[in-house]
Amino acid sequence: MPELPEVETVRRDLNHLLAGRVLGPVQGLFPGSVKGIGFKKFAEVIQGSKIAKVGRRAKYLLISLDSGLTLVIHLKMTGVLQHQQKDDPLPRSARIIFYFKDGTRLVFSDQRKFGFIKLAEDTNELPEIKKLGPEPLDGKFTPAVLKQRLAGRKGPVKTVLLDQTVLAGLGNIYVLEALHRAGIAPQRSAATLKNDQIKKLHSAITRTLKEAIAARGSSVDTYRDGQGKSGWFQVKHRVYDKEGLKCKKCGHMIVKEMFRGRGTYWCPKCQR
Ligand SMILES: [Zn+2]
Repeated sequence: MPELPEVETVRRDLNHLLAGRVLGPVQGLFPGSVKGIGFKKFAEVIQGSKIAKVGRRAKYLLISLDSGLTLVIHLKMTGVLQHQQKDDPLPRSARIIFYFKDGTRLVFSDQRKFGFIKLAEDTNELPEIKKLGPEPLDGKFTPAVLKQRLAGRKGPVKTVLLDQTVLAGLGNIYVLEALHRAGIAPQRSAATLKNDQIKKLHSAITRTLKEAIAARGSSVDTYRDGQGKSGWFQVKHRVYDKEGLKCKKCGHMIVKEMFRGRGTYWCPKCQR
């Protein structure tokens, strides 16, 4: 599933590629990807609007139109947004195609069909956006803020960090990678972390996300950037999908455990 670094990579690509383009007709190969108002109305309302900019909140892409409306897009498991030229081959699982007046197009493809697109007048008023925790790459996210977000959370730190209302944008890969870099076991109760561990965790989260964005995200499954290309941060993964390999910090073997239904990779020796 695309997480913050992947969505941010797509955002940067699309902001550069789409700003200023004017929307023409919209084709719904799977109109169910559009939520809220029906597909027909959706296509009607946005036709003729110019793309102002592409923003992001957590894992949501926010495409602002000059009409004041915003296209809110969540890629979920397998969603991909790609800007294409007229003659480019359509992705196999293309669901919604936005044609621009200049002949290029934005294609939303989604193999598993969990992703969605909706239209919002004020994204800050959307319930799913309102309840989100702080952005980890925002300057206001400090170790003190992380401490406050984790306070009283007795659950495993892995589960707590996956909760988008605690901290926005992290998923299974980056939580596990950050916990390894911080030397904290995924099963450890979040409420028991000491101040120095919270500092390490804060720095591990921000560093991992920044490095992943610099590598244009992790392509472990279907993720592609806004130009249809893969990221390469997976080559820097230390624990994710590395069971049976040696820990780069201590040499012990990385293990995989199923934990609350999801694969959890960690080093039992140097993560406490
Ligand atoms: Zn280790």
